[in-house]
Amino acid sequence: MKLIRAISQMQQWSRQARRRGRTIGFVPTMGALHAGHRSLIRRSAAECDTTVVSLFVNPTQFGPQGDFARYPRDLAGDRRLAAAAGADLLFAPSVEAIHPPGGSTVVEVQGMSDRLCGAFRPGHFRGVATVVTKLFNIVQPDRAYFGQKDAQQAAIVRRMVRDLHWPMTIRVLPIARDRDGLALSSRNRYLSALERRSATRLHAALRQAAQLTHDGVREPAAIQSGLREALGGDPAIRLEYVEVVDPETCEPVCTMDDRTLVAVAAWVGQTRLIDNVIVTPVKRKLARNISHQSPVTSH
Ligand code: AMP
Repeated sequence: MKLIRAISQMQQWSRQARRRGRTIGFVPTMGALHAGHRSLIRRSAAECDTTVVSLFVNPTQFGPQGDFARYPRDLAGDRRLAAAAGADLLFAPSVEAIHPPGGSTVVEVQGMSDRLCGAFRPGHFRGVATVVTKLFNIVQPDRAYFGQKDAQQAAIVRRMVRDLHWPMTIRVLPIARDRDGLALSSRNRYLSALERRSATRLHAALRQAAQLTHDGVREPAAIQSGLREALGGDPAIRLEYVEVVDPETCEPVCTMDDRTLVAVAAWVGQTRLIDNVIVTPVKRKLARNISHQSPVTSH
């Protein structure tokens, strides 16, 4: 597996790959790779002729109090995991190369960037959209792979690709979890053993929410209060938001009759965690006819 740091070299590599008619799959990451990233890389390797993984801890998506400086970095481990998962190339540019001094262009997906995480992390999704745009322009992928773990990010990238007429496909893959249900995240390593136990409650509470929908509850307020109740009892958890939204627009829904995203963000100690579940209630009339089919899909 090749390691490229210079943007010009990356562009040249992509030009050559495209000239040879090879499809390029792209997995943008901030490194400290885990099994969630692995699933994206594997899928890309299975679907594309070549797979590029970027490692870039993007300063413009961290707030002033964010953990940019202490965000985990592990190039040796990342090389091993990416190579074993089938990546052909690691692209690890410097901050100065991606954001040279004097740059004044940003990309913003308006509206949906201010909701959910965006309401608590001003400018975060502008940072994400801008860096993803730069990386797409450099790598020129045919397909790019994102995780449902960052549901809002995936929705924003999808919208941006559609709005800007980019000739590429965005694939969004299910959340990879540890055995205890905790969604894998590079930040989980910050959690103490005790905090980790509290953190697993997020997934347990989301499963409960999915079960409520399965049982016929359709009111977002009922789902939200159920989640707040389930998580509020743990003093180690400080809830940031509990939202029930349309997964494409991230706008709150009035009723959960269609595919709905239930998303939470919470601080556990000094660590901010996010998790979510998609619930797809089967329409009642239909449900009577196809009773053998599972009424709730969550991933
Ligand atoms: P990050 O390195 O955290 O920026 O994540 C890079 C990509 O991996 C993003 O598209 C994330 O949504 C995805 N990802 C992170 N954690 C997981 C997970 N537990 N399961 C699936 N995808 C994930």
